[in-house]
Amino acid sequence: MNKLLVLVIFACLPLLVISSCSDDKTSSGMDSNSVVHEKKARKNYEAYVDKYPDLIAQWNSYKGRKSKKSWGKWHYKKHGKKEGRTVPRGSTTTTTTTSSCNVYEAYVDKYPDLLALWNSYKGRKSKSSWGKWHYKKRGKKKEGRTLPSCDSSGDSDDGWPSGDYSYLYQKNAHAFGGRTVRWASRTINVSGVSNSNLVSAVRRWPGFGFNFGPTDGIKFMGYSTTYPGACGWAQTMWRSNGEIAYCTIYINYSINYMNCKNEGHTMTHEVGHCLGMQGHSSDGGLMDPTAAGSSEITSPVQNFFNLLYALPPGTDITPRFSSQKSRARKKDQYDPDGKELIRGPIMFNWEEQ
Ligand SMILES: [Zn+2]
Repeated sequence: MNKLLVLVIFACLPLLVISSCSDDKTSSGMDSNSVVHEKKARKNYEAYVDKYPDLIAQWNSYKGRKSKKSWGKWHYKKHGKKEGRTVPRGSTTTTTTTSSCNVYEAYVDKYPDLLALWNSYKGRKSKSSWGKWHYKKRGKKKEGRTLPSCDSSGDSDDGWPSGDYSYLYQKNAHAFGGRTVRWASRTINVSGVSNSNLVSAVRRWPGFGFNFGPTDGIKFMGYSTTYPGACGWAQTMWRSNGEIAYCTIYINYSINYMNCKNEGHTMTHEVGHCLGMQGHSSDGGLMDPTAAGSSEITSPVQNFFNLLYALPPGTDITPRFSSQKSRARKKDQYDPDGKELIRGPIMFNWEEQ
C-alpha cells in the first residue's frame, strides 16, 4: 500500500512542478493538465512588463514592495493605457495563490549579463521564452549555467549583487556608455615596477593579486615631464567587451621637488585608476583628485571595487537607472568579441596648491 502511494506521488510530482513553473508562452499539449485549472485568458501584467524593455528597466530599478504583477497593473492603469500599450492575455492559473514561479524568467534575472542581453533584445519572445531558449541553446551545456530553484520568491531578489550602483556608474561605467570596465580577473600583471617601495605601493590594494613581470597588464612607463602640475597620471585601454587590455602609469620626473605626498602614494593612486576607477573620490582618502588626501584606501572605494568585480566586464548597469538608459544606449560601443580597443581618459593626480 505504501509503495503504491509513493509511486503515485513520484509520478505526479513532475507534473506539479511543470504546471506551476511552466513557461506560459509555449504551453503545448503537455500542459493540458494545468489547463483544467484555468478560466478564460486573463490580463497578464507580468507579461505586460516583460513586453516593453523600458518597463523592464523601470521594474529592475524599482526598489518598492509591489510584486511585478501588481506593479505592472499599477503602471498600466496609471500610464500604460494612455500611452497606448496593451496587456497580453496569458494563462495565469486561478488555483495558484503564491506568486507565480517562472523559472526561466528567474534564470535571466539571476545573471546580470543575461539581463543586460535581454534588455538589449528587441525581438518578440517573452522574457521567459527567451530565457528558455538561451538556457537550452547556450546556458546549460556551453556556459555551465544553472536554473534557479522554483521555490525562492523571484520578486524580492532582482539578481543584481548589492552595492552602490550610482557610485559605480560615476566612477566607472559612465566611461563606457553605462557598461562596466574591468580586468578579466582580480589577478593582474604589472610590468616596469622593480623598486621595492613601488612594488609594495602596488600591493597595497586589497582583494587583488599582482604578478610582477616583463610585459602587459599595468605598465609603469617611468618618469615624465609632460604634465608639469601632475604628480602622476594613468590611462586605461579596454576592449569593446569591457575587459581592460592594459593601463599605463607615469610619475612626474620632478615629484620629489613638488607638492606631492610621495612616490609610493602616487603609485598606489594611479594603480587605483588602472584597476578600474575612472574618476576620483571625495572622501579625504587616497583616491581624491589631489595629493591632499590621506593614504587610506577608504571603504567607499573598496566597496566600489567589490561591486565592480562582482559583475562581468561589459555589464550594462543602466537598467538600474532607467533615466540614463536611453542616453547611454546611443553610444553603446559594446561588442562581445572585444574587437575594438577603447582609449580611456587620462586621469591626473594633481599636486596640492
Ligand atoms: Zn587620479
